[in-house]
Amino acid sequence: MLKDFDNFEIMDILSKAQKLEREGKDVIHLEIGEPDFPTPKPIVDAAKKALKDNKTFYTDSKGIIELREKLGEKYNFNPDNIIITGGSSLALFFSLASILEKGDEVLIKNPTYPCYKNFIRFLGGKVIYFKDENDLLEKITKKTKCIILNSPSNPTGEILNKEIFKISYEEIPFIVSDEIYSGLVYEGKSYSIKDFDENLEKSVLINGFSKLYSMTGWRLGYLLTSLNIIDDILKLQQNFFISAPTISQYAALKAFDKETLKYVEEMKKEFNRRRKLVLKYMKEFNWYVGNPVGAFYVFPYIGSDGKKFCEDVLQKKFVALAPGEEFGSKMNIRISYANSYNKIKEGLERIKEMIL
Ligand code: PMP
Repeated sequence: MLKDFDNFEIMDILSKAQKLEREGKDVIHLEIGEPDFPTPKPIVDAAKKALKDNKTFYTDSKGIIELREKLGEKYNFNPDNIIITGGSSLALFFSLASILEKGDEVLIKNPTYPCYKNFIRFLGGKVIYFKDENDLLEKITKKTKCIILNSPSNPTGEILNKEIFKISYEEIPFIVSDEIYSGLVYEGKSYSIKDFDENLEKSVLINGFSKLYSMTGWRLGYLLTSLNIIDDILKLQQNFFISAPTISQYAALKAFDKETLKYVEEMKKEFNRRRKLVLKYMKEFNWYVGNPVGAFYVFPYIGSDGKKFCEDVLQKKFVALAPGEEFGSKMNIRISYANSYNKIKEGLERIKEMIL
């Protein structure tokens, strides 16, 4: 089963970059998809308190009711139909595992987050890529079981248009909507599947704390659905993971406080400042990036082999970037602006020396 499973290549790039660092090179990291900010203080303080209060045991497999109730308020949704997971990664995998049968076709928009295709293949499904709403309509067949939506997108930073949500809702049996970047939108409106399928009767909405709250290492995500597959998802959680990390769950109760939101607003402001900086350079380099209004990525078309370019830039200029091939587009690269303004500026200046 693992023969069709690819490495998560960005982790390989990271280890090459770290090797250069060990050799004393000053590497600038623009490859990694995780916020560089510390987790907001109220959340960290709540974790310390949870530890002090011995909140160190398994929880209900669905997650602690207090956190499910907070999420229930946020989404106006029944807490019984919410499951807290070890990162949104597990929410994605468990949902797909509960939906897919061998040979089922799953639609994903190219370029895409690389783990989706691995999950689908691992489960015996078939990955079908689409480009836009017209292509999506053409690719729907009798075997289409599910679509994975991701807005804003990793790797493009773009948001999905209304038509794609609408077609998905009207034409496809199951929708898995990965909304992990939904809080990080700097311009315009990013739709949620809940805007189309209010009670999530044919959809699983997935989100998590990693990105918006700068909590990647806390491994906390969640899913919401009214579909009866929720019982199977729970079965998987009970067997494979028992329950999401307990201290993280108690800490995340503070994610919804006013004080924490102030931290989040500051992070968002800073991400947007960096985004504008990156876009300025993209224009100067004459690299097409589409309309990246969310997440913390841009995905320029560079007009040559992305993998070779990333290798060159890493070895000659010590800037780590992610090749587009991994996301389904060979002539692109992904730049993550989850690094400080000055580091990003220096990294892009180094690239400029190479290409202009
Ligand atoms: N979905 C997307 C689109 C992502 O970019 C990531 C993280 N890179 C995840 C899901 C998984 O995030 P986590 O498991 O930390 O919640």
